[in-house]
Amino acid sequence: MQTIQHWIDGSLVPGGETAPVFNPATGAEQARVLLGGAAEVDAAVTAASAAFETWSQSSLSRRIQVMFAFRQLLVDHEEELARIISAEHGKTVGDARGEIVRGREVVEFACGLGDILRGGFSDQVSRGVDVHDFRQPLGVVAGITPFNFPAMVPLWMHPIAIATGNTFVLKPSERDPSAANFVADLYRRAGLPDGVFNVVHGGKDAVDAILAHSGIEAVSFVGSTPIARYVHEQATAHGKRVQALGGAKNHAVVLPDADLEFAANHITAGAYGSAGERCMAVSVAVAVGAAADELVAILERKAREVKVGPGDAPGTEMGPLVTKAAQERVENAVGTAAAQGATVVVDGRGLKIDGHENGFFTGPSLLDHVTAEMDAYKEELFGPVLAVVRVATLDEAIDLINANPYGNGTALFTDSGEAARRFQRKVKVGMIGINVPVPVPMSYYSFGGWKDSLIGDSPIHGPEGVRFYTRPKVVTTRWPRPAQQIDAGFAFPTSS
Ligand code: NAD
Repeated sequence: MQTIQHWIDGSLVPGGETAPVFNPATGAEQARVLLGGAAEVDAAVTAASAAFETWSQSSLSRRIQVMFAFRQLLVDHEEELARIISAEHGKTVGDARGEIVRGREVVEFACGLGDILRGGFSDQVSRGVDVHDFRQPLGVVAGITPFNFPAMVPLWMHPIAIATGNTFVLKPSERDPSAANFVADLYRRAGLPDGVFNVVHGGKDAVDAILAHSGIEAVSFVGSTPIARYVHEQATAHGKRVQALGGAKNHAVVLPDADLEFAANHITAGAYGSAGERCMAVSVAVAVGAAADELVAILERKAREVKVGPGDAPGTEMGPLVTKAAQERVENAVGTAAAQGATVVVDGRGLKIDGHENGFFTGPSLLDHVTAEMDAYKEELFGPVLAVVRVATLDEAIDLINANPYGNGTALFTDSGEAARRFQRKVKVGMIGINVPVPVPMSYYSFGGWKDSLIGDSPIHGPEGVRFYTRPKVVTTRWPRPAQQIDAGFAFPTSS
């Protein structure tokens, strides 16, 4: 059986304990992954620190040329990478291609950093004095990423970190670790020097070693809220810069004036796409007033039409969950919802796929008459379960969303510009879709939620990514003419 190794200083590094990597569609163990700890993190940081000395001094043009080459390799190997992701995560190959494309857009953003890194210049701020600023990389930075986007989420981080001159240590999810090594090899082929991009596999031990390592300047984390909070606390306690994105409970509000067929179509795709394992998945449909009965009827029809199967089978729209534990958690949640008074309109529990009887499959579930007090509303289920909450007005829907501890994404389906404007201004959520169910921002905007969906204050990629991975210097310059007399006052200098 294959053992997935670390990638440190341009080479695969063997050794140490391992954990199983499953094929979620069959339930079979298909590989083992190394579980690194302090020694492996230290080796990666040592390599990255040495590489920083030269990489940070390389020209901006050189760094951007590597990004252009890396982008082309991502295009050329999209299908291969998509199949690797699908085999370990369970999502469909088409969905995996989508995450590669969205991640690649961050590389494209990084290819344009020459413009974004341009500093400011102020002429003659005082007599004979000019000021300019520029940004410099931090040093060695680390990324800790979740299972649900094994290519895209790391791509939110490392292209910007590397293009701005940092060196990078990635700790991907131990559930689907192969994409990280594949990307490391693409970087090598793109001409990135050894040690600039490293991968240490593992779980909590590797994370703890990253958080405590004095050679790491900044940590980017994406994952569940409790771990985001832990990472934020530990990394800041060790003096590091942190961006820590957490979990979500995303509401899609449907007003009676919306095209209900359109809304239900998009909410169905947003709820059950990737088996609901997206931080921007729609997990709550908020039906306003007279929209409710017809909306639920259409949602039911569409949930029953979803084609569930192995991610690499033609025609599959929804694959299995990532682990047996996830499958059990989601199916238990449907049972709890029923016990707490929700109506189970579509019950996805117990689904068996021919030839894949041991796969971690569960079908789409649709719950109606869910209330804010029920566990199915309060918990992030991270599976193909859509809860319908019925409210009387748009303002009641906004109050519901604002009272929820999460604030990652939300959507409004309506025909009314006035309602859309009121919604987007009042709702306490970071990313908003108007008739768009999964409003993931383009790479040149930043990505990040509010409240418990983002711990601290730093969203990811786009201009915020450049800010995060660099720090500014401001230079005040005077070039006096020879023999020119300029008083050196003892009072604090002011401009004149
Ligand atoms: P997770 O929090 O379990 O794991 C994320 C990372 O933290 C992994 O690399 C994992 O190895 C590590 N980790 C897990 N437990 C740890 C511990 N006790 N101590 C230290 N490190 C630990 O998340 P997941 O299950 O891999 O991913 C799903 C979660 O990620 C969901 O909550 C989802 O909403 C969230 N997510 C959020 C965003 C966003 O942009 N806000 C994007 C994708 C996923």
